[in-house]
Amino acid sequence: MVKKLINDPLNAVSESLEGFVRLHPDLAILDGYATVLRADIEVFKASGKVAIVSGGGAGHEPAHAGYVGRGMLTAAVSGDVFASPSTDAVYAALKAVATRSGVLMIVKNYTGDRINFGLAAEMLRAEGIPVETVVVDDDAALGNAEMTAGRRGIAGTVLVHKIAGAAAESGLPLAKVAEQAREAVARLSTMGVALTPCTVPGARSANFELGPDEIELGLGIHGEAGVERRAIAPAETIVTLLMDRIIADRDIRAEDDVVLLVNNLGGTPTLELNIVARDALNDLERRGIHVVRAYCGTYLTAIEMAGVSLSLLKADAGTLAALDAQTNAPAWVGNGQTTHGPNKSATRLAAFSENPSGDTEQADGEPASPALVAAIRAGCEAIIAAETMLTEMDQKVGDGDIGRSLAHGAEQILKALDDLARKPTKIMLSDISGIVRRSVGGTSGPLYAAFALSASNALEEGAPRAFDLAAAFEAGAVSVSRMGGAKEGDRTMVDALLPAARAMSAGLDAAERLSAAADAARRGADATAGMTPRRGRSSYLGTRVLGHGDPGAEAVAIWLAAAAGQVREG
Ligand code: ADP
Ligand code: MG
Repeated sequence: MVKKLINDPLNAVSESLEGFVRLHPDLAILDGYATVLRADIEVFKASGKVAIVSGGGAGHEPAHAGYVGRGMLTAAVSGDVFASPSTDAVYAALKAVATRSGVLMIVKNYTGDRINFGLAAEMLRAEGIPVETVVVDDDAALGNAEMTAGRRGIAGTVLVHKIAGAAAESGLPLAKVAEQAREAVARLSTMGVALTPCTVPGARSANFELGPDEIELGLGIHGEAGVERRAIAPAETIVTLLMDRIIADRDIRAEDDVVLLVNNLGGTPTLELNIVARDALNDLERRGIHVVRAYCGTYLTAIEMAGVSLSLLKADAGTLAALDAQTNAPAWVGNGQTTHGPNKSATRLAAFSENPSGDTEQADGEPASPALVAAIRAGCEAIIAAETMLTEMDQKVGDGDIGRSLAHGAEQILKALDDLARKPTKIMLSDISGIVRRSVGGTSGPLYAAFALSASNALEEGAPRAFDLAAAFEAGAVSVSRMGGAKEGDRTMVDALLPAARAMSAGLDAAERLSAAADAARRGADATAGMTPRRGRSSYLGTRVLGHGDPGAEAVAIWLAAAAGQVREG
């Protein structure tokens, strides 16, 4: 059995409609049937406008119930999955919505649907109520094949729903509404591609098979055979194959205005759907065909089939007005607008741009103290020297990238350090933050960038005294803890940084403060070997990392020791 989120397969359709109608208070279920109609049906009938009824097998959600609403369908009749509704179900729907102006039925071209809708219409006509039928056969895959039951009705049907619905809502008589719908069908063409089959709820297996690299072009929305099986190809290639057929089918030419519908057959991720939309827009542009409206989404599906269909509808001014007309049908989404202008490409706005180096240009004020610059240099050199050791530590408890990441960041800082040394401390630190942010990835990159930026933000303009540096260090450490969500004891770099920050606020001069901080960082880093990780990659390993220290904390102990040593000697 194929996995499905259902209860009893026999109730799948009715339970789905029930959920849908509960979510849309403007809709109602016709009691005893899998039919959805406008909840304000009495108000509608009093209006005397032409009613529109469509439907067919289930499994095409959000079709057809999703298109019930003011300005679209008055009712949608559903059969079981991939099975036509019964004549009685169609008749009951017609009876429920018909006004003296009559009913237009929009029927997809399948034998079962034509017979059941056709007989129900005859029954209603016998009662003196006018009924017209428009059969949608937009499937370009079958061309004008004489050997089959004819072209099938597929996703383009939704555009016919919209056009007929707008015509009826505007108060046109039945003959006119039917005429507009038929004209739309004659200008409409659709072709789909399937990447996977689909499975009817309760069925043991999918309704056909496709090889792992195989796709099928021109497949029907019930998994009926298509026109060609071929290997998967880039989306652009597939889009062009589909477009070639569609365009030939309705003799669409350069300079024609068309409406594009990119329809998800059920299992296509939005990521892919948008790529297909992009490629379809590009393809049409290359052909000189004008896209006046484009819709992209899940309109008419084949349960969970992965794949798409593309539809084109040759458009005139009336088409656009009908598509743009108001509706509250829940599944009619999007306003069809696309970017316009000479090249029709995606609108791009210039991003904020730093100067090429990313560094702050103007830097008035007293330069950073040479001792601090020397300490930073020593810290960076120590990190570069410790690369292999840090890599090995991260291999035991993480993914082994921290040695290279930090060494790379240190190299970039060293390259810029002579320039940075001419700037005030506050600016030097924010520039260092930028360098680290741009050059170091992983978790520690952004955390170190936050450390340096928050330290910079904590400093007054001008040269800081030792006390200010301690406050800056603390601001940096607190920022790392806050941003990463790690407290002391969680086994991260915070276990070295926060104790170091506390130690730095004691001591007489810079050398003493840094020494105390380095000692505290060392004790903190060593202690991580006994801590159970609660943050970062190590947390996935749990107690298995016990006995090994945290590489991030070790790195802090290493650069602080080197910085302190430098200041002591200097
Ligand atoms: P990644 O796990 O993304 O590869 P790195 O290798 O760059 O990250 O850095 C790993 C180090 O980052 C860990 O050893 C730890 O000290 C530190 N770390 C991980 N998660 C956090 C966190 N949430 N807060 C603070 N530090 C963290
Ligand atoms: Mg790592």
